[in-house]
Amino acid sequence: MVKEIDRSGSLDLLVRHGTLVIPGVGQVKADVGIAGGKIVALGDDLSSAGVEVYDATGKMVLPGIFDPHTHIGNDQSYESEAETETRAAVIGGVTTIGIFLRSLEDSYFDHLPTFRRAMDERSYVDSVFHPQIFTKQQIAEIPGYAEQFGIRSFKFYMSGMPGIVKSVTDDVLLHGFRTVGALGPDAVACVHCETGALIDRARNELRNRKPEGTLADWEDAHPADAEALAVQTALYLAKLAGAHLYVVHLSSRQGLEVVRAARRAGAHFTVETTTPYLGINSHDPNGFLVKMVPPVRTPEHQIALWEGFAEGSINTVGTDNTSRSRKTKNPEAGLHGSKPGLPALGTHLPALLHYGRLRGVPLERLVDCATRAPARVYGIYPKKGTIAVRSDADLVVVDMALEKVVRAEDLHGMSDFSPFEGKTLRGWPTATIKGGEIIARDGKIVGPPNGRYLPRQPGPAQTLEWFRRANA
Ligand SMILES: [Zn+2]
Repeated sequence: MVKEIDRSGSLDLLVRHGTLVIPGVGQVKADVGIAGGKIVALGDDLSSAGVEVYDATGKMVLPGIFDPHTHIGNDQSYESEAETETRAAVIGGVTTIGIFLRSLEDSYFDHLPTFRRAMDERSYVDSVFHPQIFTKQQIAEIPGYAEQFGIRSFKFYMSGMPGIVKSVTDDVLLHGFRTVGALGPDAVACVHCETGALIDRARNELRNRKPEGTLADWEDAHPADAEALAVQTALYLAKLAGAHLYVVHLSSRQGLEVVRAARRAGAHFTVETTTPYLGINSHDPNGFLVKMVPPVRTPEHQIALWEGFAEGSINTVGTDNTSRSRKTKNPEAGLHGSKPGLPALGTHLPALLHYGRLRGVPLERLVDCATRAPARVYGIYPKKGTIAVRSDADLVVVDMALEKVVRAEDLHGMSDFSPFEGKTLRGWPTATIKGGEIIARDGKIVGPPNGRYLPRQPGPAQTLEWFRRANA
């Protein structure tokens, strides 16, 4: 039995009689003692005299979920969504998020103080930033963003989205990778892998061939081969530049095959997929409400993604949350007119648990990909991503048997729809503890927002040895 006590006698909160799921360790029945926002004791029957107790009998206690892939402020203002979308997150068991910041032209120095203030003052969850890099000036400023704001991860779009973001050329990509690589072995180059020219052609062809169509047709605008080719290009350029490549939102079987081949050849990189891809396919009855980029695909691709997830070819899972209202999503505008992007923070953990169980993936594997693995890649482990003495007291207590029908109004974000609308998911949080306080309970907020922006320090490489072992 685990018995580890750092200090005793002054607990603020005791989570009692739950089964802990500790990545790399397994399932352990133990109490968790919390003081000053940290975990300070793990053990049997910790003394509860005079301490607030949360009784987790019959429940699973997981590390707070870290969703490394979110977008904030694409529909409402950044400040407003920093509050509403993190509220949905914490109710759903997510306690830390990675945010892809967007500034198409300006220097991020003009915007970072505002983004940071919103996360310090309004957010229910902790956060790290990944600025999206589009210009030569932004590349030149990467060392400054690292030094002044503790940023260690940056994103590049190989394929843009008309009217939303632009594609970057291979030349910008290579130059950007070199600059990120030069920050140190822990720095991360995140890439949206789709080959822009192939997507432009496919989108135009689809527009001519099918001015109107269904959700299933949307896959033709974003062929899986364009993803596979882009992963191959990004891998080659990252190797050339000595940068740690992080493939965001892998969506296809063809993409996975390139990943597998590269791993066999000894490449070290990180691959993410998302809970919308794992839970929703292109025959979904919610139609254009689940339109996204890359698209949700046929069940064949979904099966491949789950295989990649279970075998360790895919390392992390996020959401690609881009909250919208039904009005701005505008599903009535059809195949070409409705907007991509969907809210997914509030359903992230229940969808992972529900569909993961249906696919027979061990709970430990699901939890690792949603906590420890992304925390390591982004340099915030073991502060985040585990249950250990001296780690932040971010925990989610889950009733694995609790079933709920997803309804947007129960998720408490800004969106009036959910991509999982109407589906019954099994396995929901009954409490989320963030920074040592119970912030959400039984689907409701019960505490104040106590989220903080997390500046990061240069550190050792977080992929090579560890992933080799994790994937062995
Ligand atoms: Zn995204």
